[in-house]
Amino acid sequence: MPRYYKFFEFEYGVKKCNFLMNKSLIVANWKMNPATLKESKRLFNSVKEGIKNVKNTEVVICPPFIYLPVLKSEAKGPSFAISFGGQSCFWEEKGAFTGEVSPTMLKGLGCQYVILGHSERRKYFQETDEMINKKIKAALKAKLKPILCIGETESEKKSGKTLYILKKQLTSAFKNTPKSLILNSKFSIAYEPIWAIGTGNFCDPLKAKKILLFLRKTIKKNPILYGGSVNSQNARDYIKVSGFQGLLVGGASLDAKEFIKIVKSVGY
Ligand code: PEP
Repeated sequence: MPRYYKFFEFEYGVKKCNFLMNKSLIVANWKMNPATLKESKRLFNSVKEGIKNVKNTEVVICPPFIYLPVLKSEAKGPSFAISFGGQSCFWEEKGAFTGEVSPTMLKGLGCQYVILGHSERRKYFQETDEMINKKIKAALKAKLKPILCIGETESEKKSGKTLYILKKQLTSAFKNTPKSLILNSKFSIAYEPIWAIGTGNFCDPLKAKKILLFLRKTIKKNPILYGGSVNSQNARDYIKVSGFQGLLVGGASLDAKEFIKIVKSVGY
């Protein structure tokens, strides 16, 4: 076992985490949607109104970067708690990196979270485990809370490699990360089987529970979320049956009514 993996297991075994085990984290990954700012405001305000009395959940909206400042200003108001996150970030602070956004820039826009290692970033933008590792370190340094996505493909599942892939993605994401950065951080892990993303073919909650128990051998305290075709019918099962501490919701987060139902099914 590589040294960093040992360290990783040990440290999480002893470090207390601020995460409240009974408060679910519901993350909306809007991806490159909606098509206009006007629609994004409409979606955001419907969600905001619909979940305003729901307790026991923390809702994080991850819109396209360009909508963040406007939505952040829409979010103002008494007793209102929606957090924001980026869908990715670069590992450098500033410089000649056309098209990129730094962790500090996200922080400056009012983001607390950032999704890293999403399978669409790995697939369409050739993000490797090494790149994700750099991004994790940069995000932690900027005091963002990374939501690290890990998951196996259909063929990896069929050939029995799921656990191997998850362990590899997990350990390489945190490789050589200074202890001080990890111990003070509030990262989450999102188990997102790639075959379940956007397909309607969600992972059976009991099978997902086995994966969660496997991940818990390494990640002792930090939240572990499930993502992959979550809807208002299955959302509660991932929390109550599988035991996940939250959900990463893609397609269903673009439908305000459906997303509100998801949040309400998990909270109270
Ligand atoms: C995702 O892309 O992170 C995701 C979970 O998508 P969906 O809910 O549409 O499967």
